[in-house]
Amino acid sequence: MFVVVTVDGPAGAGKTTIARKLAKQLGFCMLDSGALYRTVALALLRAGIIPNDEIIPDDLLKSINIDIEPAVGSMQISLDGEDVSSEIRSEYVGVAASVFSAKAEVRRKLLGIQRSVALQCDLVAEGRDMGEVVFPFAQMKFFLTASAEERAKRRYEELLQKGAQPSYSEVFLEMRARDHRDETRALAPMVPAKDATIVDTTNLTPDQILGTMLKLIKSRLDLLKQETAAKKLDRPSKFFL
Ligand code: C5P
Repeated sequence: MFVVVTVDGPAGAGKTTIARKLAKQLGFCMLDSGALYRTVALALLRAGIIPNDEIIPDDLLKSINIDIEPAVGSMQISLDGEDVSSEIRSEYVGVAASVFSAKAEVRRKLLGIQRSVALQCDLVAEGRDMGEVVFPFAQMKFFLTASAEERAKRRYEELLQKGAQPSYSEVFLEMRARDHRDETRALAPMVPAKDATIVDTTNLTPDQILGTMLKLIKSRLDLLKQETAAKKLDRPSKFFL
């Protein structure tokens, strides 16, 4: 059975960067579930569906053909064979993803795709509901968080680096609106899994976060190995039967 480590949390908590680095260090594949929601959103927008539309036609959803190719520390995503990895990163697609992701039919479509990755390789899965809904059986679960001000600051600086000219207050308000949608939706709301370790990243550097998480993962995996070995020893061998 493959190992699954889940990393959930709100936007700007550092999940994607940390999950990618974790996966690289561990030699695990990476599942960026937000990219899947963004890709569905892009496909729906292209088909003329707007986020406020109540109904998403079933056959339209079925016709959206998403492929993911997991690799160590990364994930290739394509929509009908087209590489959409840059296009899905726009603010517009992000906001649409956050609205469309509240719909049961969208979450249902993506559940199987996400779980199928854990049948191929050890995995770091990053998102909002990885530990609670998609991989409840994960061997190690984290929930990364940070103050809303710090998360908005990180996002603001990221946008500046990309050459945009955002206003901090707009970024802050948009982030709070997205948090609110993610936390209050009826389906798979963003909550830490009951057995998740919560890491507040507000005053930590990426290296500090990574070090803490790696230590916890390694000791958990060692413990699981010992338990598995002990169970094998408990079982009487054929020789004694
Ligand atoms: O993480 P990212 O910003 O790329 O995700 C885009 C949106 O997709 C989020 O705002 C969230 O509403 C949704 N999402 C989700 N469940 C996940 C991952 C993302 O609902 N597991």
